[in-house]
Parts: sequence; structure tokens; C-alpha cells
Amino acid sequence: MANASSNAVKSAKRIVVKIGSALLVDPNTGVKQEWLDSLVADVATLHGNGAQILLVSSGAIAMGRNLLKLPRRALKLDENQAAAAVGQIELGRAWSQSLAKHNLVPGQILLTLHDTEGQTGRRSYLNARDTIERLLSVNAIPVINENDTIATSEIRYGDNDRLAARVATMMQADLLILLSDIDGLYTAPPVQDRNALLIPCVEKITPKIEAMAGSAGSELSRGGMVTKIEAGKIATRAGAAMIIASGKRNHPIASIIEGDPCTYFATQLNQSTARKVWIDGQLETSGAITVDEGAARALMRGKSLLPAGVTNVSGIFSRGDAVAIHALSGPLIGRGLIAYSSDEAAKILGAQSDKLEELLGYPGRPTLIHRDDMALISKENLP
Ligand code: GLU
Repeated sequence: MANASSNAVKSAKRIVVKIGSALLVDPNTGVKQEWLDSLVADVATLHGNGAQILLVSSGAIAMGRNLLKLPRRALKLDENQAAAAVGQIELGRAWSQSLAKHNLVPGQILLTLHDTEGQTGRRSYLNARDTIERLLSVNAIPVINENDTIATSEIRYGDNDRLAARVATMMQADLLILLSDIDGLYTAPPVQDRNALLIPCVEKITPKIEAMAGSAGSELSRGGMVTKIEAGKIATRAGAAMIIASGKRNHPIASIIEGDPCTYFATQLNQSTARKVWIDGQLETSGAITVDEGAARALMRGKSLLPAGVTNVSGIFSRGDAVAIHALSGPLIGRGLIAYSSDEAAKILGAQSDKLEELLGYPGRPTLIHRDDMALISKENLP
């Protein structure tokens, strides 16, 4: 039966799939191989149909504590970090072997939440995004986890829901699928209310919807519905739809397509509008660049800004900072996240793309500000 979730999976071009530890790892026997292979078969089908798939996989700590035979009690932070270090290798191997059966190659990305947060870690944000983008362009499957071994805050079960939402935002995915041990959002937490009903479609995450997830702060809600709804807020506000679906069956993504019960969270915005709203909200610019008339016209036609079109650079900024973009005659025409520091930008100002390596001393990136990283003000400000 066709429904919103089924249609969303079928039509999405870029999908982030988050896999929870309990689905992938059995506390006694390790990787749940049959389940993993069935999920990977679904991933291979979507990939074969032209979609780009990014996997956010938990399970490092669960695998590591198995391998290290750590006690069954709650682990301390450093024990968790050691378990993650051991388990992450095993986790990568499990994905790599399963994907290889379909001639697919994974690329491992370990992130901290900070790396995915444009506002505070813009440099690592751009680096992470560019690497993941490159992996996708060479047909690899990014397998992403939090870098638990260096994470400075407590590792919390459920963080990967948020990480997956941030990855979906950062990569402008159209869809985020959270595979979980529950098949969707219910009118009340089913453990508390036996009559609770599954909600197939959420148009907007309102306080009423949040209340259905149960109270935050309780031990049970961690990694439970509350963090999933939080993830939903991040994703849907940034232009990605989200599905919460059960991963407790084999072929969990094919099951969504076939119409098995799950919850679809709609987004009101498309990703590129959402991103531009975000960039436009970055009031703090660290510098400014001036562009010539030809470049200003090219930007208005939706092109990226190349060094050749820049006539002046001012201020001190790092790669990834927000800068103001001015027309030659003066007016502000937009803002963007710049791919070069102020020193580098000054060196390549006005330069043709084939001269960048000579001027920088290393092969640079062709764009100074990528069109996806730019918010323009209005056509009236054109010179
Ligand atoms: N990053 C953790 C792990 O791989 C899991 C965190 C989570 O599931 O939210 O073990």
C-alpha cells in the first residue's frame, strides 16, 4: 500500500539511514549477520536505483565490550571509550564485508557533534562535508559514527539520533530514516499506555507531538522517542523528511517501501531554502569580499563564486567563516561560507582557476564560495 513513507523512500535522492546498536549487535553473540546482510541488500537496491545512501551506524561500544569481555554493569566513560576504540574496527569490518557482497565500498567517517554544527566548528564542518561529498561522488557508502574515543562529553546512547539528523542537514539529504526497536511514534509511550496508536504521518512537530514522546530526562527516554523527536526537529527544519521505522525485521527499508507501519515526519522547506535561511541568519560575518559585475550576475544565476570574480578581500577570517559579499558599486548582495582563509583569499583574488596551484603552493579548490553555501539578498541590489 502506498503511503507517505513508502513514497518518500522511493523518491529520495539522498538518504541518511541511522542504525541503532541493539539492531546490529547481540550482547552475547556479536554482529547480527543475517539482519545486517538484509539491510545491506536493501541499501544496494536503493543505490542501484540511483539514490545516494549514507549510513550512521552505532554499535562500536556494544561490539567492543563484547570483544573485551567487559562487565555487564554500566561502563565508565573511559571504559566506553576503550570499548568504542576496539569495537569501531570490528564495526567497520562488518559493514565492509557485507557491502562487498554487492560490490560496494564503505568509507568510514568519525565525527564529533561539533563537526556537524556549522555555527561553531565551521572549518571541520566544511572539511567533513567535502569529504563525505567526495565519497558519494566516487560511489562509496559513507559509514558514519560519533568519534567516541575523543568525544569530550559523556557518550550517551541516543546521541547518534542527533548525529544522524545533523549529518542529514549538513549533507542536504532529502530523507532521514531512523531504524529503531519501535516502529514509529505512538499517541503515548506504548509501555505506559496499551491503547496507544501509531501515528503514520506527522505534518509538523508541535508541542502536542513532543508530549506524545513521553517526558524528557527520564532514563527510559534516552535513546528513545524523545531523542528521535529532537532529531526530527533538526532534520525537518533543515528540509529533510524523517521516518521512524522498526529495524526489528529483516529488510527493514524494503518493509517501509512495502507499506509496513512507521511514522513519516514531513518537512515544510526544501533543503536549499532551509540552508539559505540558515546562512542568512549568520549575522556575524568575519570579513567581506567584493565581486565584479560579471561575478555578481553569475551569482544571481545560481552559480558559485570563483576567485576570478573577486576584486577585494577585507577582514580576517578562516575557512568556513561567514563573509559578506558586496557588489563592486558597494551594496551588500549576500553572505556565504568561504572556502579559503583571508590570507589565501587575498593571494588568489582575481586569479583564473588554472593559476590557483601556483599562487597557493598546493592544488586549491575551484570555488571560493560554493553556491550551496551562499544566501543572496535580492536582485534589486545588483549593480
Ligand atoms: N556511538 C555509539 C556507538 O557506536 C552509539 C551512540 C548511539 O547509539 O546513540 O556505540
